[in-house]
Amino acid sequence: MLHAASGGTFHLFLNILAVEGLEMNDRYPFVNIPLPYEYDALEPFIDEKTMRLHHDAHLQSYIDNLNKELEARPALQGLTLKQLIRKMPGGAETPLSRNAGGVYNHRFYFDGLSPFALMRPNGELTKAIDRDFKGFNLFKEELTAAAMSVFGSGYAWLAASGRGRLQIVTTENQMTPLTRGLCPILNIDVWEHAYYLKHYNKRAGYIRDWFKVVNWPEANIRYLSCTNHL
Ligand code: MN
Repeated sequence: MLHAASGGTFHLFLNILAVEGLEMNDRYPFVNIPLPYEYDALEPFIDEKTMRLHHDAHLQSYIDNLNKELEARPALQGLTLKQLIRKMPGGAETPLSRNAGGVYNHRFYFDGLSPFALMRPNGELTKAIDRDFKGFNLFKEELTAAAMSVFGSGYAWLAASGRGRLQIVTTENQMTPLTRGLCPILNIDVWEHAYYLKHYNKRAGYIRDWFKVVNWPEANIRYLSCTNHL
């Protein structure tokens, strides 16, 4: 029964549907989906100013530039973001691959963070981390070392192979593990714009803080989807 109180709830429901509609925005024209949390929600680990610039300026540029690239290529306009990335010749960086990767990598990064973070993985992902890294602590060390090892701009990733084995890889600039046949589970953006305003040149401090806001339930869902457990 619809009454005054549930009218508001219904309106909220419609708003959620509208946001979910945007989440399915994986084809041209691309729009900048709002963050799934407030800009200051990850404080004090990732600061509000960094989040505002990262989402509203950096990601927005990738979205605008990807739309410009696709405007001139009607044949590619029906492809999803993942299809656009996978279509790129292996390893080759082009304006199209850089911008498609920039949109994919940033959406994946922001959705992989949460203000309600658990300190450790949950579900099937816990078992897989224990199996493939001999426990969470060694996994954390290995991902930290990989993120520290990126020279210049790029990402460190937790990804699953076709057989569901976990591995840690790094990518340069806005490349993704998708073109290597891997299924991404988490990424840590180590471009300086991701941390410089708060952590200055101290990437290690940013990585420690990133671990405090990882959305492990989302990572577990991604892992399950990578291994077709869903
Ligand atoms: Mn970034």
